[in-house]
Amino acid sequence: MTALPIIVWFRESLRLSDHPALAAAAERGAPVICLYVFDEHSPGLRPLGGATRWWLAQSLRSLQTRLREIGNDLVLRCGAAATVVPAVARESNASAVFWNDVAQAPQRDVAKDVDEALAMLGIESNSFADDLLVDPLRLRGKDGRGPRVFTPFWKRLVALGDPPQTLPAPKSLTPVAGISGLSVEQLELEPTAPDWAGGLRETWQVGERAAQARLASFLETTVQTYVADRDRPDQDGTSRLSPHLRFGEISPRQVWHAARFAAAARPVTAGGIDKFMSELGWREFSRHLLHDRPDLATRNLQATFDAFPWRHDDAGLRAWQRGRTGYPIVDAGMRELWHTGTMHNRVRMVVASFLVKHLLIDWRHGERWFWDTLVDADAASNPASWQWVAGSGADAAPYFRVFNPVLQGEKFDPDGAYVRRWVGELAALPAPLIQRPWSATPVELASAGVTLDGNYPAPIVDHKMARERALAAYARARKG
Ligand code: FAD
Repeated sequence: MTALPIIVWFRESLRLSDHPALAAAAERGAPVICLYVFDEHSPGLRPLGGATRWWLAQSLRSLQTRLREIGNDLVLRCGAAATVVPAVARESNASAVFWNDVAQAPQRDVAKDVDEALAMLGIESNSFADDLLVDPLRLRGKDGRGPRVFTPFWKRLVALGDPPQTLPAPKSLTPVAGISGLSVEQLELEPTAPDWAGGLRETWQVGERAAQARLASFLETTVQTYVADRDRPDQDGTSRLSPHLRFGEISPRQVWHAARFAAAARPVTAGGIDKFMSELGWREFSRHLLHDRPDLATRNLQATFDAFPWRHDDAGLRAWQRGRTGYPIVDAGMRELWHTGTMHNRVRMVVASFLVKHLLIDWRHGERWFWDTLVDADAASNPASWQWVAGSGADAAPYFRVFNPVLQGEKFDPDGAYVRRWVGELAALPAPLIQRPWSATPVELASAGVTLDGNYPAPIVDHKMARERALAAYARARKG
């Protein structure tokens, strides 16, 4: 008699290797149905933004190809997981459903509903820890809370030792015939009219293999200069793994172990690797925060900010979104984001600071724009980083740190290569002027083909005035 099938419900881990639920199902030797549910119906789920919808489509195709290579396939369905997963289980006469946990709300609650629905049908369910290096509950202090400051958080996590070893991808998986599914196209994840995804296609290779190749090449080469170059948007100085991690095309355990291995094999890289690992720590820190504060994207972590005198400035918000603020480093970042679905971390900090401090626009507007336009838009890292910049978050940047966009540009894009790449109107300006075109003489502007408030805007806000206004607003908010 053939064994009854097991369903592996793919959620945020779109890969075959180091996939605990898939490995456990493969080990049982039963036929396996690999199911992905595109869920826009379960309570509390935040609809994906445009850029992550695009990424998801590519990632599902890649997963489908990988599964076909090992004799299986991906069944795509649409609807609320607590309805769809049990329905597929009944339809296929499955004996069990396995999945990888997502420790944060609302996915945690979605899984609970699926679990309960399966229990009513008498179908076994089994979930496996994934996506986090450490269960948030293991880092609780005596007060029952996790560390709210990054450095002690990271020290405690590292002191717990290495996370579990990674698991290999199954070599083959017995399929189950006759389970119908949708095509990726039927999910309508990709833009068509207009198709704005050309820049994304040019920029990214999506999927598990691309993620592994990116990690390998980063650890082979880029990591050696990571400490020096990671803040330079004009250099290819970071791993660019964030969207792959976001969609679970690679697991943080795989990154951890590969990095440790590389550091042991080539001690010269150890400094870069330590720094890189601590950045992975920020990802983990944000997830632990979201675990404790499901309202991270909507509520200030520090309640003193609830009375902050944000300005309503639609024109300012639009200028920021379109990369037309008149500050070249800000505009370069916003245009890079629009074209490629990503932005260098240093520039993310500069543009976020500009929105919340120079324009005094509520950080939630910026968070929503990033949510829609970033391919790595993440329910934890995005709001946590916005709150960090705004000063309302855990372990936040001090409120008096108001980045000067000119000095940031001069320091981190010293030759202006990054601005030249993304703000074509300014490309002919020499380096000493490119971060501050308004200080060029009329002759210098004319010879570079720049007309302020013609083909490039004059600054929409004066830096000195904006800085003083921000400091006054922050001081008032702190007094309550
Ligand atoms: P690397 O420098 O190679 O770092 C390795 C990995 O560590 C990254 O892939 C990422 O997973 C993690 N990481 C690095 N820096 C951070 C950080 N500050 N916070 C959390 N994780 C980090 N990152 C996202 O993944 N999704 C987001 O939605 C997101 N929104 C952000 C919004 C703002 C306003 C800011 C300031 C930062 C945001 N970040 C976000 C963090 C960071 O900018 C990106 O993770 C990083 O730029 C990704 O590039 P990388 O993979 O080359 O990073």
